[in-house]
Amino acid sequence: MAVFRFAPSPNGRLHLGHAYSALLNLRLAEAAGGRLLLRIEDIDRERCRPEYEAGIHEDLAWLGIAFDGPARRQSEHFADYAAALDRLRGMGLVYPAFLSRAEIARFVAERQSGGRAWHRDPDGSPLFPPVDRDRPASDADARLRAGEPHALRLDMAKALAVAGPLDWRESGGGARQLVPAEPAAWGDVILAGRETPTSYHLSVVVDDALQEVTDVVRGRDLFAATSVHRLLQKLLGLPAPRYHHHRLIADESGRKLAKSSNDTGLAELRAAGLTPDEVRQRVGLAAPGGAAPRQRDPA
Ligand code: GLU
Repeated sequence: MAVFRFAPSPNGRLHLGHAYSALLNLRLAEAAGGRLLLRIEDIDRERCRPEYEAGIHEDLAWLGIAFDGPARRQSEHFADYAAALDRLRGMGLVYPAFLSRAEIARFVAERQSGGRAWHRDPDGSPLFPPVDRDRPASDADARLRAGEPHALRLDMAKALAVAGPLDWRESGGGARQLVPAEPAAWGDVILAGRETPTSYHLSVVVDDALQEVTDVVRGRDLFAATSVHRLLQKLLGLPAPRYHHHRLIADESGRKLAKSSNDTGLAELRAAGLTPDEVRQRVGLAAPGGAAPRQRDPA
């Protein structure tokens, strides 16, 4: 059976973009006769708040979206991510990264002032410098013994050599196609942070497998991240879901919606008297048989 999921992070209130994603998941799950799960991606204990999580449930219930079973809260499953991390560590693909944010910035600035370009990842962050990867084991061990704060990173070059070429099945934007994965563009991605014992990439891949998700439907802003997800799936021996990266809902001036912009927040729209049907129309997903959508859905 097809299994879909909507996976918001409770670090702000939901806006029209989330409504579109959740409603599209619902529509595709219903069309496939499948299930729709809710996952609360709350690994970032600093930024996630109980009131935002309550808001997610409230907004989704107001939209009339019923999920199959209780929500999976990532913060209750750190042991699952630790097990996956151990497996990657056992394969020799993980190293401790001690460089602080400031040290990374200094490294990159020095390279660039020497006239050399320093690559950035698809999200625009500079690739992680090779300093920690190339650190002698004796030095790294001494730092670990001294309790120096560190993250854990994937040795991308080694991981690529183990995994070989990868692709994924994509149906966003109309045609179905096979997209070649390009995880190298992300460099040595983070698998566990200094404060958080996992990362977005690791937990999303583990959860999609544990929840037996067959269809990942999410925004195009996560298209490039799928390359990393395919790599981790391959390394961990996990099945590859189908992917559908949908268009992003823009505000009146054409900018991507952000959690901070209140004029498109579902709670604000509800307070202003908008109905769930009007939200559906605004995102181009009017209920079948209902009023005509304001825009066609090229998702
Ligand atoms: N938690 C992510 C977000 O709110 C979505 C992750 C995903 O769908 O893979 O942007």
